[in-house]
Amino acid sequence: MERAPMSALIVAVDGPAGSGKSSVSKAAARELGFDYLDTGAAYRAVTWHVLDRGIDPQDAASVIGSLDSFVYAIGTDPDDYFVRVGQTDVTEAIREARVNSAVSFTARVPQVRAHVNAMFRRLIESSPKDGIIAEGRDITTVVAPDAGVRILLTASEEARASRRAAELPQHSGTQTATALLARDAADSKVSDFMVAADGVHTVDSTDLSYAQTIDAVVALIREGQK
Ligand code: C5P
Repeated sequence: MERAPMSALIVAVDGPAGSGKSSVSKAAARELGFDYLDTGAAYRAVTWHVLDRGIDPQDAASVIGSLDSFVYAIGTDPDDYFVRVGQTDVTEAIREARVNSAVSFTARVPQVRAHVNAMFRRLIESSPKDGIIAEGRDITTVVAPDAGVRILLTASEEARASRRAAELPQHSGTQTATALLARDAADSKVSDFMVAADGVHTVDSTDLSYAQTIDAVVALIREGQK
């Protein structure tokens, strides 16, 4: 007998910068054979596009105007991750410091959020896999509040700052920590990703290794699959 196609299990993961949510979500997706959606990459791609066009990221009207020419593609296969704006591969460029320091300005514009949220919902709905892990700041609350599994991945300020500093050995640790906390402060005016909403599981990775954090997230997802 033919089985009706099952829709993908949606897993929503939120958390602050440096909580490890991108690498942990990608690794968990790989382990489970799921898709992976990095929503921060979309905000970074908008910001890259804005800067590329010489627009001031604090000029909301011009940022909104730039959305008309924003053509974006992101890979949702954890083994084939890429981000493109138009024909340009921006996978690396969107991680640059100039994007880090501008992204909170573009991400606070409601029209930008609505634009990328529509893309996220399309990508989530079209996943052909058994599940998709979408990670960001407002996935558990705004993008996919009905997700089958919702997780807030946290870590202490010190742990987040030292992990990010280890990823960027060419920069001063103090500057990295200051920039990370400033970005969180700006972003938390838009979304509350420090406190778990009702029904959201908190995974605090402060005292967990990377492997233990992946295990904790995978265990919650397997529980949600039952
Ligand atoms: O996760 P990542 O650090 O790559 O996110 C980059 C930026 O995108 C955040 O600092 C925030 O301004 C924005 N963002 C957001 N909502 C999301 C994901 C990211 O506002 N769901």
